[in-house]
Amino acid sequence: MYDVLIVGQGAAGLAAAISAIELAPQARVAVIDRMPAAQAGGNTRWSPSNMRMKSLHEVSPNFEADMMTASMGRGDQAYFHELAVCAPDTLHWAQQQGLQFQTMDYFLKAWPTRIQPVGKGAGIIDAFVKSAKEKGVEFLYECQAASLLTDSNNAVEGIATADGRRLLSKAVVLACGGFQGNPQMMREEFGDRAETLRPISPGTAHNDGEGIRMALAAGALASGDWEGMHIEPVDPRSQNPAALVLVYPYGILVDRDGRRFFDEGGALVHETWEELSRVIHFDLPGSVAWTIVDSRVLDIPDYESAVRSEVPPLKADTMEELAVLAGIDPDTLADTVSQYNAACIGMPTQFDASRVDGLSTALDVTPKKSNWAFALRKPPFLAFPVAGAIVYTFGGLSTDLGARVRGQGGPISGLYAAGEITGHFYARAPNAVAVMRALVFGRIAGRNAIQMTYGERPGK
Ligand SMILES: Cc1cc2nc3c(=O)[nH]c(=O)nc-3n(C[C@H](O)[C@H](O)[C@H](O)COP(=O)(O)OP(=O)(O)OC[C@H]3O[C@@H](n4cnc5c(N)ncnc54)[C@H](O)[C@@H]3O)c2cc1C
Repeated sequence: MYDVLIVGQGAAGLAAAISAIELAPQARVAVIDRMPAAQAGGNTRWSPSNMRMKSLHEVSPNFEADMMTASMGRGDQAYFHELAVCAPDTLHWAQQQGLQFQTMDYFLKAWPTRIQPVGKGAGIIDAFVKSAKEKGVEFLYECQAASLLTDSNNAVEGIATADGRRLLSKAVVLACGGFQGNPQMMREEFGDRAETLRPISPGTAHNDGEGIRMALAAGALASGDWEGMHIEPVDPRSQNPAALVLVYPYGILVDRDGRRFFDEGGALVHETWEELSRVIHFDLPGSVAWTIVDSRVLDIPDYESAVRSEVPPLKADTMEELAVLAGIDPDTLADTVSQYNAACIGMPTQFDASRVDGLSTALDVTPKKSNWAFALRKPPFLAFPVAGAIVYTFGGLSTDLGARVRGQGGPISGLYAAGEITGHFYARAPNAVAVMRALVFGRIAGRNAIQMTYGERPGK
């Protein structure tokens, strides 16, 4: 019999395990993960894990207001308030587990400061697994949770595994991610083509919604935006994880027929990338587009860090040659570029990629380009293919501030959840928040789960 059993060895699960055993060093706490040890860690392992922190001691300004804006007012403000209040203390605690932090390495340096762990997401996994093992947490790999065991009062009393084991536990923490790895659920929620979305990293598809489904079957309430997902534009030729191509605001985007379809400069890249990636995947023929820039993009300081593909772009001295290389009809691309160039009525006095500059196209081009609209005239011209890659889904479990999973009649006894599996995001993913909330609410889940098993009143 375990005291606390945690499903999933990502940021949320590891934070839960360590915080539980810290409160009760004699307790039996175990983490199970469906993958072998070297591959466990889901999305966390592949994530840069940027965090919306001004410094280790303070969340970024307007944190809560920004969360409500990103969710279009649908998010739970109390949840984001709790996250903001607990984040500094949680990151100091993470330091005590051996994790160090640094300022985010990223292009567009004028952006608000973010921090990230040294070693990024893999650094979290390595430091936390080491700390958890030293404190006595047990790890069971290649152990896939299949359903929750419940008693006659519907209190959770363990996990049944896919290979038929019954792991009894006084409390269970579900931290096994969203459902992006489940083609059937993806199709049900997002429609045709959703099942063909490429995962952005090798760990992304390990989260196949099993945790969500087993909790719903035990009476958990659903929450979050079931039509929402975080998806980013990548180079489909690349073998790299997260092979991002983020220079489209400074050029144009065309479909495979050579026609523009999107306001490339609608806002800063992190404010448009989800919508763009969805349009490319769900609406364009072949689910692919081309980013076309001229050689002025090479003048952006550190522009290389906005392109994470190891495959070089196509390159030519004329648009016609570039079109042939890309397999786009040269006449259509030439028409598109000449219409776009004609609509670019200004030139920036000083080009600044990190701020919207208000330099928009004249109104007679469709779609309009709202910022950074300057003509593409300076060869060589470059073309990068782009496709959407899913990072995580938003729909998940309803949890309270104590990370307890809500059911119809209140929290389900013995059941906690944290991280991506919980449904707290709506509309647009709040940038640089997913790992913070996995750590903060994972830690709360672990504490409350162990307090419950020892008969103490759970906190919060
Ligand atoms: C490329 C990339 C970039 C990102 N960038 C950022 C960023 O900069 N900032 C940010 O905040 N977030 C970012 N994210 C998102 C963030 O990393 C994740 O949302 C977060 O790490 C999820 O943590 P988690 O613990 O909830 O789940 P995960 O880390 O995904 O862990 C889930 C674990 O559960 C296991 N599992 C799944 N199903 C089962 C089962 N049935 N039984 C047992 N085990 C199971 C999996 O194997 C996995 O180990 C990024 C993600 C990726 C992939």
